[in-house]
Amino acid sequence: MGLFPVLVALCALLLAGCGERGAPSIEIEGPTMGTYYSVKVARPPSGMTAEALKLDVESVLDRVIAEISTYEPTSELSRLNANPGTDWIPISPELYAVIAQGQHIAALSDGAFDITVGPLVNLWGFGPEARPAVLPTPEQIQAARERVGWHKIELRASPPAIRKARGDVYIDLSALGEGYGADRVAADLDARGVADYMVAVAGTIRAKGLNPKGQPWAIAIEEPLPDRRSVHRIVPVSDRAISTSGDYRNFFEKDGKRYSHEIDPATGAPIERNLGSATVVGDRAILVDGLATAFMVLGEQRAPALAVSQGIAAYFIVRDGDALHGVASPAFEAYLARSTQDE
Ligand code: FAD
Repeated sequence: MGLFPVLVALCALLLAGCGERGAPSIEIEGPTMGTYYSVKVARPPSGMTAEALKLDVESVLDRVIAEISTYEPTSELSRLNANPGTDWIPISPELYAVIAQGQHIAALSDGAFDITVGPLVNLWGFGPEARPAVLPTPEQIQAARERVGWHKIELRASPPAIRKARGDVYIDLSALGEGYGADRVAADLDARGVADYMVAVAGTIRAKGLNPKGQPWAIAIEEPLPDRRSVHRIVPVSDRAISTSGDYRNFFEKDGKRYSHEIDPATGAPIERNLGSATVVGDRAILVDGLATAFMVLGEQRAPALAVSQGIAAYFIVRDGDALHGVASPAFEAYLARSTQDE
């Protein structure tokens, strides 16, 4: 979530006076999913207008909300969560695909990423329910933990269906939703023949082709600082997705202690890490969005190790007292080297 305003500001700066060729680029933005989206199209197809693009993009994002939002009581996911049954429940191919992606990342991260973590997210006040005035008790945490565990759901691909081990299993797809939304908008733009675009849903971005200046889209990773916004480094992105998760925007403080919205399923509590942010680059936004959250939960020791063993292009900003250190995985270094060569 944290990247968005810096990203927009920076891109506006980079695009200003950059000598566009052909049709002027189109830029739209607006609220979605409790956060913001923006879409920039360089060299748009003839006849494309900002007004039509906005209608189109927002209808795609609204469909995503109707499928997977826990904030929308009538969404397919909310109806699934409210269903107390433990038999197979038919689901749409779209919801199936997002849940299957979540289960893949859960397996990869040994359960640090867990889409059944919703009862804990809600208990700590980060979900659709209001923030609690008092911290949850160990008994409440234990009760919520009993409903959590990625093995408590089973998926069937054809026809798509899900089975819950307990009727009160509650699925939260927020860690994948922005990426999924960006992928769906990107697919829509692809179908419309748009060759050069950047789609951002909060801190998750899909970029294709080149910016108005004819260069890869420039994406800023910000410093993981809660009280100000500054750019840590710029990453060129073309035909790729990039996502950053951090503990520095979505948190609350109580009695001088900071509580992050990323929950460690192993403890049932918000993460306490020296990892300020994790950025992942890859082909699909849904995957990099989920991996970035998984890395935050894994923390500064286990996250880089997983990125190395799985060949994931990841960049971590680690806190060391007041200092911040960037740690790039080998695949991230290779990605940067390739991108710089291509420029
Ligand atoms: P990310 O790091 O990408 O994800 C963090 C989120 O993932 C947490 O907030 C929690 O929900 C979940 N999570 C925590 N720990 C784990 C874990 N161990 N494994 C897996 N997941 C975990 N917010 C509103 O205020 N109003 C809305 O109307 C609203 N609508 C939404 C609709 C949709 C379709 C989606 C996907 C989200 C919506 N949100 C809404 C939520 C809001 O945008 C979230 O803050 C956001 O999705 C979290 O993304 P992030 O980039 O901040 O953090």
